[in-house]
Amino acid sequence: QKRVPLSALLANPFLGDSDSPLPLPAEIYGEIAGAQRPNPIGVDVSEESQRSALMQAWRHELPPQKTRKEDPCDTIPERMRKLQEAQQRWNSLPLAERCACLLRAADLLEAQRDSFTALVVWEGHKSWVDAIAEVRETIDYCRYYGLLAQEQLADRRLPGPTGESNGLRMEGRGSMVCISPWNFPLAIFAGQLLAAIVCGNSVAVKPAEQTPAIAEAFVALLQRAGVPTGVVDLFHGPGRSLGAELVRATGVAGVLFTGSTGVAKQIQRSLAASESPIVPLVAETGGLNAMIVDSTALPEQVVDHVLLSAFRSAGQRCSALRLLFVQDDIADGLVQMLAGAMALLQIGPPEDFASDVGPVIDVTAQKRILAQIQRLELQRGKLLARSPWPSSANITGNGSAAIMRDSLGRVLHFIAPSLYIVTPDQILAEEIFGPILQVVRWSGSWEDVVEQINTFGYGLTLGIQTRIDRRAEGISRLARIGNIYVNRGMTGAVVGVQPFGGAGLSGTGPKAGGPHFLARLCQEKSISINT
Ligand code: GLU
Repeated sequence: QKRVPLSALLANPFLGDSDSPLPLPAEIYGEIAGAQRPNPIGVDVSEESQRSALMQAWRHELPPQKTRKEDPCDTIPERMRKLQEAQQRWNSLPLAERCACLLRAADLLEAQRDSFTALVVWEGHKSWVDAIAEVRETIDYCRYYGLLAQEQLADRRLPGPTGESNGLRMEGRGSMVCISPWNFPLAIFAGQLLAAIVCGNSVAVKPAEQTPAIAEAFVALLQRAGVPTGVVDLFHGPGRSLGAELVRATGVAGVLFTGSTGVAKQIQRSLAASESPIVPLVAETGGLNAMIVDSTALPEQVVDHVLLSAFRSAGQRCSALRLLFVQDDIADGLVQMLAGAMALLQIGPPEDFASDVGPVIDVTAQKRILAQIQRLELQRGKLLARSPWPSSANITGNGSAAIMRDSLGRVLHFIAPSLYIVTPDQILAEEIFGPILQVVRWSGSWEDVVEQINTFGYGLTLGIQTRIDRRAEGISRLARIGNIYVNRGMTGAVVGVQPFGGAGLSGTGPKAGGPHFLARLCQEKSISINT
């Protein structure tokens, strides 16, 4: 098989002629770049033909049933044993064959883009814009990891004295467990899985309970792309019981997890207590993400980026903005502008192209967010603005929460985008996974603001809005944060361009969609021969 060098295939137009260490396939990038700038999640869905193709998929290609009923806990040991057998065969295939499966998966997914997008809207309750971006991100993962593996995982010769031949081989570690969340039911599910298999691992994969059909569809696509049956085994069930059992199973060679910080710590304890070998945990968890705005920032730009980062996707992204620190002398004006813009946000069912803010995932999420709002109000956080409910007969509720039906008659649960003003000691220092933003005024020095953000212990994303370059540089240096965005929105990290993952309580690294991810999932073998 001919090996295609990554550098020949990839270019990163973002970075012009510079030698980018973070390549992305030019053809995909071209597609994303036009659509994603200046709005990182926005794509044009205004074309009538595109809309009707998507609506067609939404109406006619829904899976017949949502979930397979089973209690797989009993069968775990047997299924893990089969996965281990399959891993040995898969790992011994030439690297190029494994990579080719990922590249074929990208082509297949591209060909079925509308159906997958509709499925994400239908089951994940995501807006069209978010769902289109998610399918594209998944295509990127297929190509990025497929090409990165070709480049990084091939056998290497290393130097040595005369009479000695040295080499380094990257192999799969064994059977891994992947556990993914409902908020990126396709992209994160697929990203973990693709990275694990391309390295030569087999995978017990557990999608979120809320989104089983998307997972089924993607695993079926991988099989059409040539991944042998047996390499991926899909488990449906609750994280609390099934996820915990999988992590404890004998022979687990590593765990990839995206979800809450609390569960990541439980997994870490469970792995530490098990009799199995010492294995890696790659965890991407929560955040208490801040944006620091100083008085030199462009207010219209800030408003745009705040709306996008805090309220789009109904705030259900790990990367979403939660705490807005605004320099005192511009705070009143900025809050007023934000309130004005929030009044125009349209809340509605995800399949409606006009909706800016869709539902939260389910009633449990809605209740959790309402309880957090109550705690915030108990701490004397003051409600300054809330987006209005649409005037529709279809809607029940008021205040912060409501329910609405979609065109299929399903009940959806909504939280209205809300802005609270708090003093530093009133901050509710926990992740609210919904469209709730706390605004804090700052006067003193920017260093103190960064220190305060660092003391929360999370470190996922940070936004900086300033026209003073040295200040942006200073904040970036001082902040213990994984993804920093200057004068732009802080969500929608692009594979290979903004490798994604945090520090501290926000995760272990390495970053998803970055050049170091695959190596963590491999077993390195050094072979030294006296010739
Ligand atoms: N990668 C996503 C983003 O940059 C967030 C992933 C997550 O929510 O876990 O917005």
